[in-house]
Amino acid sequence: MQRIDQIYINGAFVSPHGQELFDLFNPATGQVIGQVRLADEQDARDAIAAAKAAFPAFSRTTKAERLAMLRRMHAAMAAREDQLNDALIEEYGAPASRSRWMAQHAASVLLDAAKVLEHYDFTRRAGTAEVIMQPLGVAGLITPWNNDAGFICGKLAAALAAGCTAVIKPSEMSAIQTRIVTEALHAADLPPGLFNIVTGRGETVGATISSHPDIAKISFTGSTPVGKSILRSAAETLKRVTLELGGKSPVVILDDADLSQAIPLALQAGFMNNGQACIAGTRILVPEGRLAEVEAAVLQAIDTITAGDPHDPRTSIGPMVSEKQWQRVQRYIRIGIDDGARLLVGGEGRPQGVDKGWFVRPTVFSGVSNDMTIAREEIFGPVLSIISYRDQEEAIRIANDTPYGLQAYVLSADTERARQVADRLEAGRVLINTLAHEPAAPFGGFKQSGIGREYGTFGLEAFLEPKSILGGAR
Ligand code: NAD
Repeated sequence: MQRIDQIYINGAFVSPHGQELFDLFNPATGQVIGQVRLADEQDARDAIAAAKAAFPAFSRTTKAERLAMLRRMHAAMAAREDQLNDALIEEYGAPASRSRWMAQHAASVLLDAAKVLEHYDFTRRAGTAEVIMQPLGVAGLITPWNNDAGFICGKLAAALAAGCTAVIKPSEMSAIQTRIVTEALHAADLPPGLFNIVTGRGETVGATISSHPDIAKISFTGSTPVGKSILRSAAETLKRVTLELGGKSPVVILDDADLSQAIPLALQAGFMNNGQACIAGTRILVPEGRLAEVEAAVLQAIDTITAGDPHDPRTSIGPMVSEKQWQRVQRYIRIGIDDGARLLVGGEGRPQGVDKGWFVRPTVFSGVSNDMTIAREEIFGPVLSIISYRDQEEAIRIANDTPYGLQAYVLSADTERARQVADRLEAGRVLINTLAHEPAAPFGGFKQSGIGREYGTFGLEAFLEPKSILGGAR
């Protein structure tokens, strides 16, 4: 049993003012493995005050000083990789086949930000004016549970690279992972107040951050409904807001695709991160003339996908993060059946031979129409929908017929043709025949998948404001 009873304010581990104790679970067993004492509104205000006090000096640091800090943070995170890997398996249920990548990613995002900072010019000319890109102030960084360490480090890296100080509110469900991150970043020996970490509830700590007048910028990753409520409270003080929200990403399989490659890739896109991924490809669009072939290929490929013990290196799908999330996914599977979608594989309940933990059967529906609930709403579990289309025009129309627009996938034997389709998709990222990640490229959503971009130069500029100097330009 881990007991976490400290938060991190002004460079020190302190006892929170908040008293509430919150249970932490191992989702593979459903058992309590720890408890965290949650921060409250007062703690959030203290953290904001510390970040505010640190901002004037930090915002005037040089690029070289901030680069050195980011590199120290990277080394400190990399030194904790094994410990974070274990926590990702125990507390989140990430399968070992993925947890290692996630643990490494939490460190590498710090170096990625350093690379961007190294080549970024904070001043430029615009006509007779000199334009200075100036840090916004104190940033509130609010993150979800499905990649706790990666989101904390990624947002913090961009904020600090820009010269902003930060108050971080991670998900209360990831407190063990957060503690490892906090200890690592503390070891990087940054001046006090640059970053403050207050684990607490969204309605208390999160709401205080999103409404506080001393917060200039919010960077939020989470669900679309919470994103909208943050945008509303941030409007009162006109905070700058970056929102990374949900998705219902299409995987467009063109009629020339080699299914022996396309189907395993489509299933991987759909089931990644136990299906708890905002970028999961959950709508598989297939030409109607090849539907039978696609279904046969799915049935064959699914045999190689194992849902179960996250410690087992052969496992590709671990448990849902919580019982609530398990119930939510079960409800959607029931809705799919009730709405008349055809269950190709999977279904309600736990996988065969599994009698505990929040495991879901990898599920694929066929005969889905794009107006069914399972095709429109984000399920956030390993539940995929096969939707057939008549021709390429209809495929593009269906792909874009969604309130979301985070990511899209196009699979084809002809890259140029896939590219023409990609150009017409409404999504912040389109991946052609690949699942690769590019940290230098902007990431974020069209439509209700969000506002703004993270990563690369766009991600850095999300923490900066242009100021034009006229008359006295150097
Ligand atoms: P969530 O929206 O419930 O919570 C996200 C964070 O917001 C948590 O820290 C939570 O405590 C906090 N929060 C909740 N209510 C709040 C409020 N009123 N004010 C301020 N903060 C509040 O999301 P979740 O269930 O933790 O995560 C899953 C969601 O995140 C999914 O919808 C998924 O698509 C989305 N997500 C998006 C991305 C992306 O980059 N676009 C990445 C990962 C996850």
